[in-house]
Amino acid sequence: MRPEILFPYFAPLQSLPGIGKKTAVLCEKLCGSVVADLLFHMPTGFIDRRLKTKIADAPLSGIVTIEVIVDKHYPPATRKSPYKVICHDDTGTIGIVFFHAFGNYPAQVLPIGEKRFISGKVERFGNQNSRIQMTHPDYIVSETELDKIPEIECVYPLTAGLSGKVLNKAVRIGIEKMPVLPEWQDPAMTKREGWTDFLTALKTLHCPKDEGDLEKTKPAKQRLAYDELLANQLALALVRHKMRRVSGRSTHGNGEIRKAILKALPFSLTSAQIRVLKEINADMDSPLRMLRLVQGDVGSGKTIVALFAMLNAVEAGAQAALMAPTDILANQHFASIEKYASAGGVRTVLLTGRDKGKKRQEKLDKILSGEAQIIVGTHALFSEDVTFKDLALTVVDEQHKFGVHQRLSLSEKGQSADMLVMTATPIPRTLALTYYGDMESSQIDELPPGRKPIATRVLPAARLDEVAAALRRTLAESNKVYWVCPLVEESEKIDLAAAEERYEYLNRLFPGRVGLVHGKMKGAEKDAVMERFSHENLDILVATTVIEVGVDVPSATVMVIEHAERFGLAQLHQLRGRIGRGEKESTCLLLYSSPLSQTAQARLKAMRETQDGFKIAEEDLNLRGAGEVLGTKQSGIQEFKIADLSIDRDLLTMARNDAKYIMNIDQSLSSERGKALRLLLYLFGKDEAVKTLKAG
Ligand code: ADP
Ligand code: MG
Repeated sequence: MRPEILFPYFAPLQSLPGIGKKTAVLCEKLCGSVVADLLFHMPTGFIDRRLKTKIADAPLSGIVTIEVIVDKHYPPATRKSPYKVICHDDTGTIGIVFFHAFGNYPAQVLPIGEKRFISGKVERFGNQNSRIQMTHPDYIVSETELDKIPEIECVYPLTAGLSGKVLNKAVRIGIEKMPVLPEWQDPAMTKREGWTDFLTALKTLHCPKDEGDLEKTKPAKQRLAYDELLANQLALALVRHKMRRVSGRSTHGNGEIRKAILKALPFSLTSAQIRVLKEINADMDSPLRMLRLVQGDVGSGKTIVALFAMLNAVEAGAQAALMAPTDILANQHFASIEKYASAGGVRTVLLTGRDKGKKRQEKLDKILSGEAQIIVGTHALFSEDVTFKDLALTVVDEQHKFGVHQRLSLSEKGQSADMLVMTATPIPRTLALTYYGDMESSQIDELPPGRKPIATRVLPAARLDEVAAALRRTLAESNKVYWVCPLVEESEKIDLAAAEERYEYLNRLFPGRVGLVHGKMKGAEKDAVMERFSHENLDILVATTVIEVGVDVPSATVMVIEHAERFGLAQLHQLRGRIGRGEKESTCLLLYSSPLSQTAQARLKAMRETQDGFKIAEEDLNLRGAGEVLGTKQSGIQEFKIADLSIDRDLLTMARNDAKYIMNIDQSLSSERGKALRLLLYLFGKDEAVKTLKAG
């Protein structure tokens, strides 16, 4: 239960003045359903109404507030013409104009002979000597209501049907109602950084005194960004701490199977793979529960690393599971793992959502009896009816598709099972931290030998025919080609049509040698096409989505990506990583359609210039929001509301150290500061993390 002092922060938005049911629904779409959500909805700029002038002196751009006397009303002559009200002061006259005025609204707000203050944008209608006018003033108030015109008004990101005025009012009054909370930050730090308390910082941002207050590098914003980052880091630390507290197990195989399989491998492990495996083995050996992240660029050989970690568990007489985000990837992992595992006499099972009825039951039985030693699958692995005999290790190949919570719940299956998370795209350190916290991590920072650099070219889509014709040579040298058509979610049908059209076009050029996979196909159909592309005489694979090409076909040397400008940098890098896996030179052709946005230009340039996944990931972070880089948008994890990781990286490091320190001295959050920190966690929606404290 949330502490009572936070109740006002978690009151429904409708408790704020000016927010009725309708507005609340709109606000919810915009930022959330409780007051705190609105308070964390940050303004992006402001309107300054402090300029008070006479009519004659009113500048024709910008916003002014003018004191006037109302003279005369001119109701509209026709339906289309506006309602006009003439007013004056001692320097001149001004027309106030209303289009589609509602009822007698103008007469009500501007009674003849009265003094009124109007605030809005002034314009001159017609040419010289013409009248000054103000169309739909933002505010019209009497002298006694003058304080209703905010001197400075914030500009918020809005949604259709919601006015900035309503938001401003609600936020301002809302802030006044919020109780002061005990300080959760270290006083020495707030002093050093020149930060105010939480509520004052909120006030500064929502009721700024000047434009500077809103800047991201100014104390108010920094303070709140730090609050948000500390909540994130502390929550991760707490969850991790809980996982570790569940006693782990020591897994130590005798190495026999690994030795046999190593012999059967057509290559030897890279020194990076060997190093990472050492780190993993040491963790598995230890009685503490392992929670380790393995990062490695596309093609760095993560699958083999996963396999060897799993073999360790098998040698020790237990089971290991590998979970992939999609059917296709599960299939592919299974194929490569089975190939090697069988060389060591290890029994494997593949379990996906496609297994139904009797076949599924048979597999479940094998998993339960322990006959299955290595189990590969999708999230189907963790459905309720799956029971492992003795699960010692879970490997999650996540490719950013799983959320943190999902990932944590998975580990409940094997109560004390070690856990390895593999990520395909290198994540910039900054992001790794906010996503995984201080999880142990290993880097496979070396590609297998013999990889040739991939030549990347950027071409206008107009040269498509030329590109297609040039494939003749590629095919003549018995190399294979990926051809990617983008998927734009809004119109899957159109996308599909485009892919089909491309398929037919290529098939006319190269009859019988082109295959097509797309998201609408049945699993088995997809598999069949993939299989033919991997092993048979299907040489060009047209695909609609990134996932469909998450395969390993070393003879593929060309990757054509249509509408490359529509893909994110990480996606492009992932796609490109599907080629350049064999001995031969590979080429990636990025076809674009004009006009190119600046971001798209920068992305394509980065692709052309580097193949280093880490560099690409950093660049990606600079070009896009953090949520997109991590694919958290899909997995439903919220991006930061206040912190901006392209600016606040130092704050993140501070927050991380702070969280570590807190965990060292007060991991139950029971000290004075600890209790205040619980409030912080609740404020930023980290209820799950607070729960770990209660479970004790
Ligand atoms: P990723 O890290 O992208 O998952 P994979 O595990 O799919 O990479 O490996 C990519 C390719 O490299 C596979 O064909 C795999 O067999 C091969 N491979 C892995 N390790 C080595 C190695 N040490 N030497 C040579 N080839 C390797
Ligand atoms: Mg892989």
